[in-house]
Amino acid sequence: MAEVLVVGAGVIGLTTALVLQERGWSVEVWTKDDPADTVSAVAGAIWYPFLAQPRDRVLRWSAVTFQRLVSLARDAATGVRMQACIEVFAEQHPDLWWASAAGGVERLPPERVPAPYRAAIAVDVPVCEVPVYLPWLVATLLARGGRLVRRELCGWDEALACAPLVVNCTGLGARELCDDRELQPVRGQVVVVEGTYAGPAWIDDTGAQPFYVIPRRNDIVLGGTAQVGDARLAPDAGDTQAILDGIGVRVPNLHSASVRTVRVGLRPYRRTVRLEPEVRSDGRRLVHNYGHGGSGYTLAWGCAEEVARLLGR
Ligand SMILES: Cc1cc2nc3c(=O)[nH]c(=O)nc-3n(C[C@H](O)[C@H](O)[C@H](O)COP(=O)(O)OP(=O)(O)OC[C@H]3O[C@@H](n4cnc5c(N)ncnc54)[C@H](O)[C@@H]3O)c2cc1C
Repeated sequence: MAEVLVVGAGVIGLTTALVLQERGWSVEVWTKDDPADTVSAVAGAIWYPFLAQPRDRVLRWSAVTFQRLVSLARDAATGVRMQACIEVFAEQHPDLWWASAAGGVERLPPERVPAPYRAAIAVDVPVCEVPVYLPWLVATLLARGGRLVRRELCGWDEALACAPLVVNCTGLGARELCDDRELQPVRGQVVVVEGTYAGPAWIDDTGAQPFYVIPRRNDIVLGGTAQVGDARLAPDAGDTQAILDGIGVRVPNLHSASVRTVRVGLRPYRRTVRLEPEVRSDGRRLVHNYGHGGSGYTLAWGCAEEVARLLGR
């Protein structure tokens, strides 16, 4: 029997498992889905705080994660690399509350701000190439003696009967497992196109839906949508067209790229990320770590370190 059971093998569960191993625990991970079929597998996975609260904790967790990802980016096998990124704004003085976590950003002078925007910033941030990074997280867990088990959990007693310490990293699955009605899906659709792109990543959150371009080694992720309360998993042709039209306006040379795949994921959104311990009536301990919304990759390492502290190391 492992000392800690982590339930969930998306980016939050796998990262939590690795940090617990670093602190000397033996760890087993249970997952209903193959990691390649989780919400985490759909993400563009750029470091960028989006749709996650509260700000003070998000700032702390994202700063820790930024530093961990910067150091992982030194090893190409991890699938993490640094990426130049431009974000554009409709207002002249955007609130860059997260900038200190990234070690600062460059505000572009007016002549470098693309029309019709009123401000823009440049920042180098980590991108996790998901098709490489998630398998790397799994391989690292296994190489350190951890176990990954395909098993659906139906209630916490079942988990606590198998390990003295349990961590809940079930993302949207916590809606049923914890009867947490605050947790809701925020639907995200991405279009992955063929080719490579040497320009900067691009983020435009000025409209009704977020727009982004995230270059990867072998393809380019174009987004996106953030549809609150929408749990449709099938790709929507109208969303695909809107994403490609958005590209036509902003990054015209990507407009004619061929579509490799269209994917949908449901971000596990909550008014605040739930990262807290729960002591059950019989004294057994559970730590909840879910509800990271649009920022799972941006917060994972910081949250995992806090879980380890809550468990006592
Ligand atoms: C289109 C899109 C783009 C995104 N882009 C970014 C980005 O650029 N940067 C960023 O930081 N974030 C991004 N995100 C958000 C990020 O993907 C999520 O915050 C993150 O994936 C949540 O991770 P998770 O591990 O909590 O959940 P998941 O990846 O959903 O994993 C949940 C795990 O719990 C397991 N589970 C659930 N219920 C049970 C059960 N009953 N028994 C056993 N196992 C169970 C599942 O099988 C799975 O293994 C994006 C999301 C989407 C959809």
